[in-house]
Amino acid sequence: MPKKLAAGNWKMNGLREALGEVKALYAACPTPSCDVLICPPATLIRSMSKVCDGIQIDVGGQDCHENTSGAHTGDISAPMLADTGATYVIVGHSERRATYGETDAQIHAKTAAAWAANLTAIVCIGETLDEREADKTLHIVGGQLAKSVPDAATPTNLVIAYEPVWAIGTGKTPTLAEIEAVHTFIRTRLVERFGPQGHEMRILYGGSMNPKNATDIAAVPNVDGGLVGGASLKASDFITIVQALNA
Ligand code: PEP
Repeated sequence: MPKKLAAGNWKMNGLREALGEVKALYAACPTPSCDVLICPPATLIRSMSKVCDGIQIDVGGQDCHENTSGAHTGDISAPMLADTGATYVIVGHSERRATYGETDAQIHAKTAAAWAANLTAIVCIGETLDEREADKTLHIVGGQLAKSVPDAATPTNLVIAYEPVWAIGTGKTPTLAEIEAVHTFIRTRLVERFGPQGHEMRILYGGSMNPKNATDIAAVPNVDGGLVGGASLKASDFITIVQALNA
């Protein structure tokens, strides 16, 4: 079984004082048995990387441009993230797919760019509520998986995050059986495409994971960790989720 990963996505939250949350996380859990990652806003990556130097907390970006440099005002490239100390980057988060119209083809290109910069890409996939209600969940998730992930995927450079769009930031979650069904489907597709390595690729669940539901979700077969938004902002909440994934 792959080593579990507790990944926090801070989104557009956090000023320098928020670095105290990372210090508190480390103080409470200095030697986690799962991997721990925080993806803060780009403005905090450098200072968080310094805080996390030599400790078991990795730092990642929340997006990268598909090009390495150029006339892309406001964007950040994968080599720039790596240069600030990031080792992971989230790509294809549903908020970016919805707000900026990011396509699977772009996410595929961003993932390749992340790999070229030696970053591990966390590729997000998931259905909307309308798609779930129309019984299209596996069709949507399967299509996004096929089109967003380049052929050179390995268990080291790729993490998949299954994030039902309707569960993000809403307090709603699928049932454990529904989570298992989608994760097992993703595992099957990964093994079909990448062979035995597909068993080692981590599949995170994301969408209103919190200290109360983390233990149950962590125990679902083929759940190899969580991508956590709101509940990663406070160390006191995130510690409980890290501990659930440590078990
Ligand atoms: C996310 O944004 O990836 C996420 C899962 O958010 P939340 O945990 O707040 O639902």
